[in-house]
Amino acid sequence: MTSRPIPASKTEWHALAASHAYETRMFIDGALCDAAAGGRYDSVNPATGQVIAAMAAGTAEDVDRAVKAARRAFREGVWSRLPPRARMDVLLRFADLIGAHAAEFALLDSVEMGKTVSGMLGFDVPSAVANIRFAAEAIDKIEGAVTNTDPGALHYVLRQPLGVVGLIVPWNYPMLMACWKLGPALAMGNSVVLKPAQQTGMSAVLLARLFAEAGGPAGVFSVVNGSGSDAGQALARHMDVDKIGFTGSVPVGGLMMRYAGESNLKHVTTECGGKSPQIILADCDLDRAVENAVHGIYSNQGEVCAAGSRIMVERSIHDEFLQRFIDRTAALYQPGDPLDPATSMGPMVDGRQHRTVCSYIAKGREEGAHLAMGGGAPEGLEDGLYISPTLFTEARNDMTIAAHEIFGPVGVVLPIRDMEHGLELANSSIFGLGASVWTRDLGRAHRFARDVESGMVWVNTYFDRDATAPWGGVKQSGNGRDKCLEALHQYSQTKSVWIHLGG
Ligand code: NAD
Repeated sequence: MTSRPIPASKTEWHALAASHAYETRMFIDGALCDAAAGGRYDSVNPATGQVIAAMAAGTAEDVDRAVKAARRAFREGVWSRLPPRARMDVLLRFADLIGAHAAEFALLDSVEMGKTVSGMLGFDVPSAVANIRFAAEAIDKIEGAVTNTDPGALHYVLRQPLGVVGLIVPWNYPMLMACWKLGPALAMGNSVVLKPAQQTGMSAVLLARLFAEAGGPAGVFSVVNGSGSDAGQALARHMDVDKIGFTGSVPVGGLMMRYAGESNLKHVTTECGGKSPQIILADCDLDRAVENAVHGIYSNQGEVCAAGSRIMVERSIHDEFLQRFIDRTAALYQPGDPLDPATSMGPMVDGRQHRTVCSYIAKGREEGAHLAMGGGAPEGLEDGLYISPTLFTEARNDMTIAAHEIFGPVGVVLPIRDMEHGLELANSSIFGLGASVWTRDLGRAHRFARDVESGMVWVNTYFDRDATAPWGGVKQSGNGRDKCLEALHQYSQTKSVWIHLGG
């Protein structure tokens, strides 16, 4: 497949969107294919409401074929027993090909999800490339162990792949969430069956095709598109899948564990939702805090698992913070056409998500919070799925809008007395994904990092990350860790080998 140059303007992006040949098939056992039962579903562009293509809708039959191919490839050792450096070469070529196809990935995730092309080119694609590279480079640095045991024996621990891994991912960062899991799963030598969200199946198929082009053998990486209740459930309940790596909502994460319990006790790691606190203390650098807090809640339309949606501000700076926050939001985030490189905020992914976010906004008003900004469609975009950056103030931590994950551009400001008060509110949540504290007091920052119930903590920043930093939550935000070396361990298992030496 030849890569495309990056379009330079809105007109060029629209020309590309109009002329692109959208692939509607899935990718199983090294080849593009339609669903065995012939089913299809419409992929709809949330920015226009227009149907882009009728996608193949995989079912249990397709999942079973993909799993069988994955098991065959695993047993034959075409990938699982490749010398580490050979596997690394393929994954590094795969990463290069992803980078070379940046325009196509940006187009596909933008037209299916409403994601801005600027966000795709500035973050999603480079981050995907970096994470595949990181996993590839780690392949020959992962070690087993020799333990110190009886002199009459040699005992060593092998670290081996799990076998067939099912990956089930959401729509909010379609190709990136897939790559966060594909990197470590493939690096460790597993075979993979990927089930993307139904809203966003196209970039997953492109990933599988590029893996094949990079030299990945047939059966090692298949994609089955389709609904969660059909293709997703079939994968998670499959008796010959050794692990499900899941990213998505808390209720569906719970189903993954149930399906594992009701099938073959497969491994399950979950990366679920959040209601992450940003704690702004009076001694902070207010300019930086405002800027980062705005990005923390409104980037990617607020459809971010770690969105800093509970903004807790020390009372003495509350009013000043609020005014600056509203001003900066107006300058940084205006919803618009996601194919325009100047746009910073797209529409909600689909009608259902749009209705969910609107109903939370109505609930916030009903429960007595003050709507300080937004709350509806931006002017001129009333017919679409757009929602303006929205902010509630005078809210309480027990209000629905402060407790539930909204997954849209809706922030809630909670006044706090001091850090201890913020910490108490932060920890009174079922979630524990991200958290930030803004202060110049080093001791306070460390105490916060130690005591906050959260998988990730940022001090005087928000969202900073790279491939080395574990990504994941505690409590109902999940039990898995993406990226980092630990992720490679999570796609492998140990085997204990005890040798009697005699003598
Ligand atoms: P979702 O849980 O509805 O769906 C996630 C995936 O699960 C999709 O592929 C879907 O088709 C599949 N699925 C749905 N029902 C299923 C079933 N019964 N059996 C098997 N599979 C099923 O989530 P979503 O709406 O796509 O994504 C939004 C959620 O993802 C938010 O809660 C967000 O916080 C979370 N998320 C978490 C992280 C993280 O790293 N912690 C990252 C991104 C998104």
